[in-house]
Amino acid sequence: MVTPKIVVVGSCNMDIYSWTDHLPEPGETVIGDRYWQVMGGKGANQAVAACLQGAQVSMVGRVGNDLFGQNMLETLSGYGVDASHVRVDEQVGSGIALVVVDKKPENIIVVVPGTNMCIEPADIDEADACIHAADVLLAQMEIPLPAIERAFDVAHQGKAVCVLNPAPARPIPDKIYQKIDLITPNQNEAKVLTGITAETIEGAEAAGKALIERGVPAVIITLGAQGALLVLPKETHHLEGMRILDALDTTGAGDAFMGGLAVSLACGKSLLKAICFANIVGALSTRKRGAMPSMPSQVEVEVYIREHHLSELVD
Ligand code: ADP
Repeated sequence: MVTPKIVVVGSCNMDIYSWTDHLPEPGETVIGDRYWQVMGGKGANQAVAACLQGAQVSMVGRVGNDLFGQNMLETLSGYGVDASHVRVDEQVGSGIALVVVDKKPENIIVVVPGTNMCIEPADIDEADACIHAADVLLAQMEIPLPAIERAFDVAHQGKAVCVLNPAPARPIPDKIYQKIDLITPNQNEAKVLTGITAETIEGAEAAGKALIERGVPAVIITLGAQGALLVLPKETHHLEGMRILDALDTTGAGDAFMGGLAVSLACGKSLLKAICFANIVGALSTRKRGAMPSMPSQVEVEVYIREHHLSELVD
């Protein structure tokens, strides 16, 4: 079988969590009892999720010339992601998120996008041969829109399906909507993009139709434990989520879903089969804590498919 090729254009972040009794007041120093440092960024998470499902994945992005950047390059390579198009920026530091969690648990989060917001169309051009050879081009919105637009332009010169995971959501210019083959908001993002509340299936369908009117031929709205809704110009399908009894933490489920979706589409599967597969990958990620460390392996997914007799739905 030919290995599916995916290019992810997106963010790399270092997330640093610390746990304290209470959140600090302005001017206060509190002593934490532990911390956890974990690689993240929606781009890197989705690249790893796709790579673990057997695709050949290249990441296009930027990190700083610092320890976090070095760590990220090593981590991506360790998972098997081609990081040769992740540029090391000499001027700006790597993107980080500082998260403090107290006993309640409430949190405060500071995100410094760093090099992620420095990604330019020229970074995309540098990877054009790789994008031309891709089956799927996957982008998220933690990087500047001109880079995403250039990535879609370059991808359309080849055969890649252009998928936008509009996370975190912010307004998208019409000229970019015209270049998207598939958009995949969750319910909150669908509301931000359309102004339509997507909490119910009917609401999600209405939001999906509003996105179709902007020129996108296919919309998938992810619905958490309820699975996902596929909205096409003339039909809508609800694909139920997998029931996971030992779900522990849904952080990163959306990224796992995107990785699975991209791999299945890159293998030439239909949208319906790709969503079933993505629902499985997304659901299995809820069994472990965190985002990148929770992405399931190909073996875990295969075993789940076999044990639950789902192969006809995904193959
Ligand atoms: P995000 O993580 O971006 O908020 P969702 O919460 O919609 O996105 O989750 C993305 C996908 O992950 C869902 O479409 C579903 O396939 C899977 N998923 C999320 N939460 C659960 C859950 N509790 N049980 C089973 N599957 C889940």
